[in-house]
Amino acid sequence: MAKKIVSDLQVKGKKVLIRVDFNVPMKNGVITDDTRIRAALPTIEYVVNHGGKAIVFSHLGRIKEEADIAKNDITPVAKRLEELIGKPVKFVNATRGKELENAANALNEGEILMFQNTRYEDLDGKKESKNDPELGKYWASLGDVFVNDAFGTAHRAAASNVGIAANVKETAAGFLLEKEIKYIGGAVDNPVRPYVAILGGAKVSDKIGVIEALLNKADKVLIGGAMMFTFLKAMGKNIGTSKFEEDKLDLANELLAKGKGKLVLPVDTVVNKAFEDVKGTVKSVDALDADDMGLDIGPKTLELFAKELNGAKTVVWNGPMGVFEMKNYAAGTIGVCELLANLKDANTIIGGGDSAAAAESLGYADKVSHISTGGGASLEYLEGIELPGIACVDEK
Ligand code: ADP
Ligand code: MG
Repeated sequence: MAKKIVSDLQVKGKKVLIRVDFNVPMKNGVITDDTRIRAALPTIEYVVNHGGKAIVFSHLGRIKEEADIAKNDITPVAKRLEELIGKPVKFVNATRGKELENAANALNEGEILMFQNTRYEDLDGKKESKNDPELGKYWASLGDVFVNDAFGTAHRAAASNVGIAANVKETAAGFLLEKEIKYIGGAVDNPVRPYVAILGGAKVSDKIGVIEALLNKADKVLIGGAMMFTFLKAMGKNIGTSKFEEDKLDLANELLAKGKGKLVLPVDTVVNKAFEDVKGTVKSVDALDADDMGLDIGPKTLELFAKELNGAKTVVWNGPMGVFEMKNYAAGTIGVCELLANLKDANTIIGGGDSAAAAESLGYADKVSHISTGGGASLEYLEGIELPGIACVDEK
């Protein structure tokens, strides 16, 4: 079974509701990174180029109190969309009401309308985030068909995804969501083997579910990042002052037992005496001093990972290998980017906010198969949890 895609819909003359993820970073009302807006352009362009009337909407930030309203005004996003798409974008500064309804009904084929931040509705009993049924029904009434292209929020049932889908005749995935389903969904449902997972980042506790799921699914699970030290400590090694989680040592032991033959831990690390960006020292994981803090995986570990990745056909990577934000501790993360880039005929997938940002800033965006647009959503998807924002999309 495959999901219906926007290109499967007859959009001509129809009001097409398009849920996008325009939750862009902003500073004092100015957009600092418009990647997410660019990423949604193919779906919006498809609709308007095929005679659809596009009604585009997104959440932006979190709305908990009155003061959050002005801070999360989505008007600058509508302006940027207009610049990027090269067409006028009508904007209604409301999430419901006569003005919005009239604007939707007045749309001509090929025109675009955007309305205010869907989470403005959260001020009144979290109507958007808690999927208030009346709100979903109301938004659905503004259009004829629904396209969900917001992967970043697909792991939560909101009025603007599941709520609308329950009240329209047809729901399809946008091209961005389609890509997430193809790559991450593909790795979950039937990965081409050998299937190697690489996990790193800050904490074991953030990723327990995904480690367990991948230990069941993947052929090998390579561990780096700060989470490696929870495992190494559980194995009885001296980890100096490296970051680890005391309350996850038992769990780490369980995972070590369960993952015998699958779980691959680093053999060396780059240490420093303090958490600062000065040149570190490479040490075997068996030779740390009491005042050593491991901030990256070492070169021997990269060699080991290269061997494990040799011939891999599916690779999923979540979590940086070290403190890549510091140039002296970025080598492990760069090294893994390089290993992925050099794999032949492999599906290489990067998920997780920081790992995705690392791969992009290091220039590897075009050298892997897919960089996921959703941090939390990609973790839950990899875990094998059904995402409501995908489940609500019709099958073909
Ligand atoms: P992602 O967002 O990709 O899922 P995480 O949020 O789990 O990744 O972790 C990213 C953070 O982990 C980065 O800020 C990085 O500096 C930190 N990190 C990685 N390795 C270490 C380490 N050895 N010590 C301390 N922090 C680390
Ligand atoms: Mg993160």
